[in-house]
Amino acid sequence: MKFTEEHNAIRETIARFIDTEINPYADQWEADGIFPAHELFKKMGDLGLLGIAKPLEYGGMGLDYSYQIVFSEELGRIASGGVSMAIGVQTDMATPALARFGSDELRREFLAPAIAGDAVFSIAVSEPHAGSDVAAIKTTAKKDGDDYIINGTKMWITNSTQADYLCLLANTSDDKPHLNKSLIIVPTNTPGVSFSERLNKLGMRSSDTAQVFFDDVRVPQKNLIGEEGHGFIYQMLQFQEERLFAAAGGLKGMEDCINKTIEYTRERQ
Ligand SMILES: Cc1cc2nc3c(=O)[nH]c(=O)nc-3n(C[C@H](O)[C@H](O)[C@H](O)COP(=O)(O)OP(=O)(O)OC[C@H]3O[C@@H](n4cnc5c(N)ncnc54)[C@H](O)[C@@H]3O)c2cc1C
Repeated sequence: MKFTEEHNAIRETIARFIDTEINPYADQWEADGIFPAHELFKKMGDLGLLGIAKPLEYGGMGLDYSYQIVFSEELGRIASGGVSMAIGVQTDMATPALARFGSDELRREFLAPAIAGDAVFSIAVSEPHAGSDVAAIKTTAKKDGDDYIINGTKMWITNSTQADYLCLLANTSDDKPHLNKSLIIVPTNTPGVSFSERLNKLGMRSSDTAQVFFDDVRVPQKNLIGEEGHGFIYQMLQFQEERLFAAAGGLKGMEDCINKTIEYTRERQ
């Protein structure tokens, strides 16, 4: 596609932001195994960068997805994959289903602060025995009065030790595996939510990744995104944005590798 002046303006804003607010600290955040998500997301929220393709009513820019692709591409300039992945979790992995299928009340309560950079989000799908095979998850959310009671374990959850909210995939019935799942927003300060130590990873070291444990966690049923039993479909749709984000985000990194290789071969005797 042909990019317009507007696309280029957003690209320049992001590039400037990365050069001044992220890349000077990237090595330190890699060494620390964590970056200050609340501080960084607030700065990005103030520039409108966390809601480029999100609805205007909740503080987004309401632009089409081509602008989000420009955003993802430009994040590839970040000298730490963990930071760009963590930003992508906030914008393209944990919030698309909420933006598309969440009730107005839910979007005001949870999406608006995510777009403003006032809240950090995680997506909680994977489990110790269920990665690619999402249908095999075992975490349950059982109805009790007006609440769900959640029990289970999630694995490899990005941003989780800093997150305010989780977009959780859980089994809400004993129906077939593709028909028994629901997406539910879980505030991390709810009693019964706990985290492992940060996982010591080979790569993406600057993003905090941990296991999350749910022990009789009670959340109101109004925190359900869309319809009960549609969670598997919603999550598969949400994965489409995750994959587009990841694909576009790889381009600048590859360009950088080529440029650095050319530079090196010219210097080397
Ligand atoms: C740094 C990092 C951050 C992450 N962040 C999150 C997060 O925020 N939220 C979240 O929910 N998850 C997260 N994940 C988990 C990620 O989504 C899973 O790692 C991924 O889904 C793969 O699952 P797995 O690791 O269990 O591998 P597996 O599913 O066990 O796959 C292992 C290998 O087997 C292959 N394989 C699997 N099934 C088949 C099959 N049927 N046929 C042929 N080959 C197959 C796979 O391609 C892969 O090569 C993260 C993971 C990492 C490493």
